Amino acid sequence: MYTATKDLKLPTTITGSLPRPGWYTENLSGRPFRVAMAEKNYREQYLDAVSCLIRDQERAGLDIVTDGDNRFDTDVGGRSWVAYVVQRLAGFTGYETSRKHAGWGSSVPGEIMYEVLEARVLPQVTGKVGPGPLEYPQLWRSAQQMTAKHVKFGSISADCLESIIPNHHYQSRRELVLDLCEVMHAEFARLAGAGCTVFQVEEPWVHRFEHHKEDKEMTMEFYVDAFNRSVRGLRDRLELWCHTCWGNPAQQRFYEAAKSYAPALEHMNALDVDVLTFECASTGGMDLEAIGKKITKPKVAIGVINHRGLQVERPEEVASLIRKALKYVPAERLCISTDCGFGREGMSRRHAFYKMVALTRGTNIVKKELGLPETHIPATESKFALADEE
Ligand SMILES: [Zn+2]
Repeated sequence: MYTATKDLKLPTTITGSLPRPGWYTENLSGRPFRVAMAEKNYREQYLDAVSCLIRDQERAGLDIVTDGDNRFDTDVGGRSWVAYVVQRLAGFTGYETSRKHAGWGSSVPGEIMYEVLEARVLPQVTGKVGPGPLEYPQLWRSAQQMTAKHVKFGSISADCLESIIPNHHYQSRRELVLDLCEVMHAEFARLAGAGCTVFQVEEPWVHRFEHHKEDKEMTMEFYVDAFNRSVRGLRDRLELWCHTCWGNPAQQRFYEAAKSYAPALEHMNALDVDVLTFECASTGGMDLEAIGKKITKPKVAIGVINHRGLQVERPEEVASLIRKALKYVPAERLCISTDCGFGREGMSRRHAFYKMVALTRGTNIVKKELGLPETHIPATESKFALADEE
């Protein structure tokens, strides 16, 4: 169901992660969140960091905010996005360097992706996977208490997890995906039960499978079915987003060149979600016409900000991409976001902040053209500028 984007034309948000403040030096290091929160320094730094990252998003004028994925540790290449879950679920033990999910250049020293994978040391599956202290409700509450805006909470998908983790227990990969779907579904349901209004599942394997056809054990239909099992019933309780992009380990694309969503769009339209996101800024919106034709059920969120570059987009560039999308998707079905998260080590808070402001300024240009009310962006108010004027 629609909550945050209900009745809004061109609502704005980001994917999720934000660069950590420099003074936020504590890490969970595998501890359950509530155990860490019993420790004075962690509690103070965590809550202060969530608060200031939400404040940054409010100053940028975003409609829907995130907790910045603040639970994730500072590690190499965004490892925590996966590690947070597998360090806590039952069925995982030990540690092993994951060679799975290898992208271009990943097998050759001297390539950044080689180092990213080298550092992706993860517990391996050594037994039947089961629940563990993911504590999504507690994490969401910590953020939602800070703001009157909807907090969009994000989590890695079950099928994406399977594509990365070392498995030494399951004979059948399908069985592992389905068991992970059940474990993750139970946590998603707890989050909905806690009152979370917007939830985003990240990077299902559907759009990428087209480009991994050598994988004979899986099919696109299996991935769609597995994803839908993992989110069953959620749309009756909250607004469900599904994020897709072409990769973000250390801000890198998995593939040498930009890929097209076109072959996967029919299957993506079968995902049981309210909003589907698409990487568009980095590709100049090359798939927008096909997206407009094939994505008929969920709303479409386009990325208008590139998470892989430090050059801050001009509001006019953002506006021009939104105008292009509006040729194929009506304003009441179009949401504005970033291509992916800003990550923790890839860019500075300053870059991420001005990219968020460019996102809302660009959206305002189009809103004005359409006769829609413009959004107030506190960061653009000149009366608060610090420079001398006399
Ligand atoms: Zn992404």
